[in-house]
Amino acid sequence: MSAPVVVIGGGFIGLCSALQIQRRGLPVTLVDPGDPERAASFGNAGQFAVGEVVPLSGPDTPAKVPRWLMDPLGPLALRWRHVPRLTPWLVRLLRAGRMDRVAAISAALAALSDRIHLDYQPLLEATGAQALVQPGPHLRLYPSRQHFDAEGWRWDLRVKAGLKFELLDREALRALEPTLSDDITFAIASPERSSVIEPLALMRALDTGFRAGGGTVEHGTVTGFSHGGDAVRGVALQGGRLIAASQIVIAAGAWSHRLTALLGDRLPLESERGYHAVLPNPGVMPRHAMSHTERGFAVLPMGDRLRLAGTVELASVDAPANWDRARRILDGGRALFPGLNTEGAKFWMGHRPGLPDSLPVIDRATIARNVIYAFGHGHMGLSFAATTGRLVADLATDTPSNFDITPFRATRFSGRAWA
Ligand SMILES: Cc1cc2nc3c(=O)[nH]c(=O)nc-3n(C[C@H](O)[C@H](O)[C@H](O)COP(=O)(O)OP(=O)(O)OC[C@H]3O[C@@H](n4cnc5c(N)ncnc54)[C@H](O)[C@@H]3O)c2cc1C
Repeated sequence: MSAPVVVIGGGFIGLCSALQIQRRGLPVTLVDPGDPERAASFGNAGQFAVGEVVPLSGPDTPAKVPRWLMDPLGPLALRWRHVPRLTPWLVRLLRAGRMDRVAAISAALAALSDRIHLDYQPLLEATGAQALVQPGPHLRLYPSRQHFDAEGWRWDLRVKAGLKFELLDREALRALEPTLSDDITFAIASPERSSVIEPLALMRALDTGFRAGGGTVEHGTVTGFSHGGDAVRGVALQGGRLIAASQIVIAAGAWSHRLTALLGDRLPLESERGYHAVLPNPGVMPRHAMSHTERGFAVLPMGDRLRLAGTVELASVDAPANWDRARRILDGGRALFPGLNTEGAKFWMGHRPGLPDSLPVIDRATIARNVIYAFGHGHMGLSFAATTGRLVADLATDTPSNFDITPFRATRFSGRAWA
């Protein structure tokens, strides 16, 4: 039997890639350390964020950087100590914010966004996970109509991408969400945005489906590759064990660049750290998933628990967590829902794999052509995982596709635009 395709990383991108390749009839082995809480996929806000096509950086970003530095507990914070190391990434981030770049990036995000439900549906059906998805609408909360109007070009991009939405005034919002604070007087309802009731349960369902389809899961950390000519013949695990591979998919989230560097591709991947608090007994339970733009966090009803998740902290994958940021999210939750019981809150911090132009890499390695990259999905990795998996499977099986992956090429960071 031929060696399997080895997928490195068991977050949503690795799981969906493994499943999609398996569905094309190839043997697949997935390698992951086996600690789901380490994955960004474990702790996210659960949104299938259809129409979220706004990159992190825009023309107004340079003016915001001082605030990122001055408020370590703000919705987006930059830790001083890490600025020297992060500077090249930050420079690229600012360049990505030129309006002509923003329009192109947004169009590429829209192409992925359009396929979220189409590509998830067969995977959810095959793994029996449909019941884990709760329908929309998703609510985007604003203190006032003026705050919404201030979104300006950001909202224009969503409209251009075809986001379906409804404007809700105070009364309409109150009818949908009676427990919300009176401080929120305006919202946008997006009917196409559904959410997953518990991201970990979806990870487990995908994993179970993969194993049931004949897939192999190995617990371990990939530390290197074994080569033969220009191809990679296998992966080396910590401890020395080798696993032979016909092809390799690097889907190791915020750690992926450490592996690509071993293959000669230096990619500007950084952790956009996010936090969550899960409330075991919240006392109030909103009816819908929602997000609070100004405070930078989302609210996910998870059965009888409530998750508050979000914010961005630019530091490093190795830096210790700043749990005051998670406590700040709790303050935000209390402001949204008077009477919220935050007792017993469980905090978590995770690493969004962030490339400076807010687009993932979905491509072959530059030299080792039997290695496929699938990482850097930033804030959208749950949403884009099934489509990424489909594109990875196209590459793995040399299937021609009419989906243009040019915007996701690894080589975009070596061109003059990024020099
Ligand atoms: C607070 C927060 C809220 C979010 N909300 C949303 C949301 O609502 N909707 C959305 O679409 N996205 C959301 N995201 C983003 C989303 O969670 C990520 O983009 C996505 O989980 C990335 O998936 P991944 O598989 O690339 O990486 P991960 O989930 O991080 O998985 C990578 C895996 O690779 C493993 N790994 C690393 N190195 C190695 C190695 N050398 N060998 C083997 N395995 C390795 C890791 O241990 C990990 O298990 C959110 C993120 C955060 C932090």
